Amino acid sequence: MSSHFAGDVTQAEFDSLLDQKGGPAVIIHGGAGTDPDVDPTPILAGARAAAEAGLKVLLAGGSALDAAQAAAVVLEDDPQFNAGTGAALTSEGDAELDASCMDGTTLRGGGVACVRTIKNPIIAARHVCDGTPHVLMVGQGAEAFARECGIPVYPNALLVTAKQRARWEELHKLAQIEGADSVRKKLGTIGACAVDAKGRVAACTSTGGTVYKRPGRGGDTPILGAGTFADDHEAAASSTGVGEAILKVQMARAACVYVGQGKSPRVAAQDAVALLKERAQGDGGIIVAGPDGRLGWAHNTPRMARAIARAGWAKALAAV
Ligand code: ASP
Repeated sequence: MSSHFAGDVTQAEFDSLLDQKGGPAVIIHGGAGTDPDVDPTPILAGARAAAEAGLKVLLAGGSALDAAQAAAVVLEDDPQFNAGTGAALTSEGDAELDASCMDGTTLRGGGVACVRTIKNPIIAARHVCDGTPHVLMVGQGAEAFARECGIPVYPNALLVTAKQRARWEELHKLAQIEGADSVRKKLGTIGACAVDAKGRVAACTSTGGTVYKRPGRGGDTPILGAGTFADDHEAAASSTGVGEAILKVQMARAACVYVGQGKSPRVAAQDAVALLKERAQGDGGIIVAGPDGRLGWAHNTPRMARAIARAGWAKALAAV
């Protein structure tokens, strides 16, 4: 798999940077569906900015969950990525968003699914985590809860970029000829994992879901264990790829269990993606952060935007 690396960092150098121990550190992904035919420069810049935003929170004494959330918000707000603003559209042409977060110290977690009027669903997911006894809230109930928490109504049309609208028009035409299921292949999601200096880990994931999905379809992203998982005794992970396949193998949990069994996060990420392919014929990718500060990433798609930031580095390093 050929990758574009920002700067002059080779694959081997990246591997040793991933294997480096010690937090604080942040790792992010911008989805396993990164288009191989576009100039990666702005994507790499967006990925770096997110990782740096997360690290800044850790360096200021914020929690791993605050850091992962901060990185996720940057990615949700960047229209290049399929989450928040710029999300892929459903077959009806609207943005319908899923997100979840999990704290590895307490195993607290929260998710929202199929929300349409929230600019940053990861913030709504965090409110579910912190402010309710629930783990997952969906649709109108999740939106009503977000209002109660002071999250303002954000018109769906503002989440839709011109690029996604044009893409939808094209797919909509194609769907009339080839059938809707044949055009539901494109991927994209964002995710972030953080580890602090004391080995506390957390993960956040957010998505517009698969392109041209049915309205009401929930994927892996809002589900703990599938899209997002974190446990200080194992690791934190955020998945991307075909949600239906990721759900079947519980990919985020699988990667964390591998770390708990003694694998490095780098190898655990590779093995989780292999599991996805072998057992569920799925394409996708994952990022992993271990409590000892080692990190991992892997994907079996042509590209996955990703970045890492560590304390002491002048800037984050990105690859796609
Ligand atoms: N996992 C996301 C979903 O199925 C999509 C993606 O990551 O590309 O909703």
